Amino acid sequence: MIDPSIAPVDIRLHKTSSELSITWADGIETILSGVSLRAHCACSRCRARNLIGTPLINDNANIESVAMAGVAGLQVIFADGHDKGVFPWAYLRAIDAGRAVEHLSS
Ligand SMILES: [Zn+2]
Repeated sequence: MIDPSIAPVDIRLHKTSSELSITWADGIETILSGVSLRAHCACSRCRARNLIGTPLINDNANIESVAMAGVAGLQVIFADGHDKGVFPWAYLRAIDAGRAVEHLSS
């Protein structure tokens, strides 16, 4: 069940600044950088590397492209070819609000 207020109505990728902007049904606009998204990538590989403290952020954390991951969220493809990150809508909102850790552990 997807909360209708967090349905995206507009998604734009600004490749020059490597920022993703999402406008939601409730009128809020979220702007996320490639570095921020990469730091919060919840794929099993990134989560494992985060746990052992391997630095993940490098110059290639730019966003190459994004694609819909079904209706549930967004797939982010980074400039270094990493494409395993799927970001559910509620998680994107949580990252923007600084509540990503709470979201993952709940
Ligand atoms: Zn990842």
